[in-house]
Amino acid sequence: MLSRRDFVKGLALGVAAVTSGTAFSQQTVLTPYALDMQRRGERFLLDLRTTDGLKAAAWLLRDIQAGNVIGRPNTDTLRLAAWAQAALAAQGAHSVFDIHSGLRTLSTNLKTEGHHQNSRHLPNLAMVFSAIDLNPIGINKEYFGNLIAQPKFGGVGWYSTHIHFDVRERPTYWRKGV
Ligand SMILES: [Zn+2]
Repeated sequence: MLSRRDFVKGLALGVAAVTSGTAFSQQTVLTPYALDMQRRGERFLLDLRTTDGLKAAAWLLRDIQAGNVIGRPNTDTLRLAAWAQAALAAQGAHSVFDIHSGLRTLSTNLKTEGHHQNSRHLPNLAMVFSAIDLNPIGINKEYFGNLIAQPKFGGVGWYSTHIHFDVRERPTYWRKGV
């Protein structure tokens, strides 16, 4: 498993590569904590350092189909999203992330087309889930998928309507219909 320190180092490495095209240097350590996300007309600028920010993230990433079941988004997944948003902003491309899916209860997962038995959208016993499906508004999805794959912290899936990403031990990539 990646340690939190490795994760932060990796995020910094990704930003350095994206923004300057140069190798990682100690001066460029960046730990983004702001995340601009929306779903169905509700938009929040989340501060991932705060309880309120994490609560708002959990709300946006709830399982609507199951009757608004609220889980606990993996904070590393949220930080990966914040990193990607910061990396885009550093290139002058500001994007709000439009959420398609976060938590999926077992029943919702079974109803989801192309679902996986071991989907990272499924919660563990502590209700923690690690996957997000989103559409980065104004950003080419192909580009966004390549960007969020850069730190190599998990799975990335390219779909016609959204990009899936999650945090897991071994990087995995797939395409569905694109
Ligand atoms: Zn997904």
